[in-house]
Amino acid sequence: MIEIANVSKIFTGRGAPFTALDDVSVTIRENEFFTLLGPSGCGKTTLLRVIAGFIDPTHGAVKLEGQDLVKLPPYRRPVNTVFQSYALFPHMTVAQNIAFGLEMLDKPSAEIKATVDQMLELVRMTPMADRKTSEISGGQQQRVALARALAPRPKVLLLDEPLSALDFKLRKDMQLELKRLQSETGITFVFVTHDQEEALTMSDRIAVMNAGDIRQIGGPRDIYDHPAERFVADFIGDTNFLEVELLATEGETARIRLPSGVETEVRAPRDGVAPGPVTLAVRPEHASLSGGDGAALPGTLANVVYFGTDTHFHVDLDGGARFVLRQQNQPGTAQGWSVGDAVTVTLAPGVGQVLRD
Ligand code: ATP
Repeated sequence: MIEIANVSKIFTGRGAPFTALDDVSVTIRENEFFTLLGPSGCGKTTLLRVIAGFIDPTHGAVKLEGQDLVKLPPYRRPVNTVFQSYALFPHMTVAQNIAFGLEMLDKPSAEIKATVDQMLELVRMTPMADRKTSEISGGQQQRVALARALAPRPKVLLLDEPLSALDFKLRKDMQLELKRLQSETGITFVFVTHDQEEALTMSDRIAVMNAGDIRQIGGPRDIYDHPAERFVADFIGDTNFLEVELLATEGETARIRLPSGVETEVRAPRDGVAPGPVTLAVRPEHASLSGGDGAALPGTLANVVYFGTDTHFHVDLDGGARFVLRQQNQPGTAQGWSVGDAVTVTLAPGVGQVLRD
């Protein structure tokens, strides 16, 4: 639905020119919840603003359903934006705020009323329709901002860290709410966040960005289970990195030798990699201290951290690397290991991922 082709943005202010987007290409599908995820300053907001029309790209094309958007001013694009600050009118009521965009479009008043009522229902704010937006809570303001942006039925809704001002609990509730709104309206959402958990929970697909570039695009599971490179593996979730020897690959399977000398099979990078020294990424929940099937790494238990639902074990592997593994706690059962114990870290079969660099 949205086609971003070879988009670059070079800011030329008073200082040296700065490349905020470096030849970015991505296609966003109709009806999808698409997230731009990355650390502060990686170019997420710049890309969103290029789609909205607030920033002109230095190079490249932005198309919506085949139509070139670059020449259209923001207000002529079938796209709406929800900002981090909400930008509501405090002296107007909830209903007036939602009606505002429709009035600007000169819609008939009966249609405006029907749409406002429908939007109030959608965001569950009907009982507060006549309150001023200065007299409602942050979470309620967030809902009104969403309703206002959804009311003109844009084809695409752009959301720039819209949940970041909310406290933890409300943020969790609003994540589910946003997902529901997206699937009920069928509008394509492009969502910006630096919060990996938020991205994993809400998105159909995620583009992981770093330094003006998209490093990997995929579904949440795909990105988590098959990170292509170290940056992605490190940014999303917790990861152990082991320096191993790649012996051979066959399709998606790689045969490797661990530092302990044990050989095992893990996942190969999709775009291929030559045999030799490589980095293996292993999630903390994909290893155990209890032996069993799988490849083993001997070491010494350096730290045990209890987290309620699970326990984290920090192991100093023979050879020097630190490995963190996570095990779920079983009710009423002590975990049975002490700091200083000689232990063996056993990797679950087949789940480590060889990275491409
Ligand atoms: P955050 O999560 O902190 O909002 P971001 O990924 O959204 O970060 P952008 O706002 O897209 O980052 O900015 C990308 C880079 O471009 C940053 O290094 C920023 O300093 C720079 N930048 C943004 N706007 C301008 C501008 N008008 N002139 C010069 N540099 C800019």
